[in-house]
Amino acid sequence: MRATLLYGAGEVRVETVPDAEIVESTDAVITVTNACICGSDLWPYKSMEPSEIGRPMGHEAVGVVEAVGADVHTLKIGDVVVMPFAYSDGSCVFCHEGLHTSCLHGGFFGNADVGGAQAEAQRVPQADGTLFVLPAGKDDALMRSLLTLSDVMGTGHHAAVAARVGPGKTVAVVGDGAVGLCGVIAAKRLGAEQIIIMGRHADRITLAKEFGATDVVSERGAEAVERVKELTGGYGVHAVLECVGLDQSMETAIGIARPGGAVGRVGVPQSETIPASRPAFFENITISGGPAPARAYIEELLPDILDGRIEPGRVFDRVVGLDEVPNGYRAMDEREAIKVMVEP
Ligand SMILES: [Zn+2]
Repeated sequence: MRATLLYGAGEVRVETVPDAEIVESTDAVITVTNACICGSDLWPYKSMEPSEIGRPMGHEAVGVVEAVGADVHTLKIGDVVVMPFAYSDGSCVFCHEGLHTSCLHGGFFGNADVGGAQAEAQRVPQADGTLFVLPAGKDDALMRSLLTLSDVMGTGHHAAVAARVGPGKTVAVVGDGAVGLCGVIAAKRLGAEQIIIMGRHADRITLAKEFGATDVVSERGAEAVERVKELTGGYGVHAVLECVGLDQSMETAIGIARPGGAVGRVGVPQSETIPASRPAFFENITISGGPAPARAYIEELLPDILDGRIEPGRVFDRVVGLDEVPNGYRAMDEREAIKVMVEP
């Protein structure tokens, strides 16, 4: 089959690799109908050391079940499924607590162990727990939104939950990528009164406003903090969704949180320490978040997508075939595209 491998910074190749197959009796194999390129794929795309064997890429997919192992009981061949970016058994202590990314038998897609989803097919461990069967008969626009349940919409929602967004709250979203935009959707959905999007790309700002952002702050650093305070009566916001992962964005996030507020971080941190520890301490700011248990949020978010109340699929502004995936990485890296959908 054809699959995407990253061989080092900027070195994306689509190659023929061994077919995805059942390894464990709890596995399924899906034919990937829709995948995507993630903002988090851009970190290795920018910085990975050269590799001789390459790293399989992609962790978001909608697909069709083509094979199941002997111990898979809830799925059948032909089911249309969404695949969260982490696999999980759905039955351990952490899965029961809704934290599927810490599953005792879980792991992540997009590596040499299980392969990646920017490919014609994907092996899915713990298939019963991992895959969610979608209702049949979806149109293309709906499919785009369903695909976001595999990562970005669940991640934006997780940032909002971690930041304790609720009715009447003031919210700021740091980062205007696809996750930040889904964070705007999530904040509005959870009843936020004021939603400040922090970003500077015109196309993303426009979409953020359509998703429910009430204010835009395009400044950075100290000026951005100043501007958010102006917009919030001098206090800062109750909830900050940190959707970038850099020290500067985290510093801004803590700077704009009001005393007693919370930062929900979902951008993969690019350094080992959390900046602005002292201001966070003295203002009693909660810092929460981590990899989103996307699987846990599907049941909650799916009805809103099916009813058209939210349309996270609008973050996809480019569609490529498998052979054009390298160009898709380039387009996202150069901010030419917000999020690229892949149709293998
Ligand atoms: Zn588990």
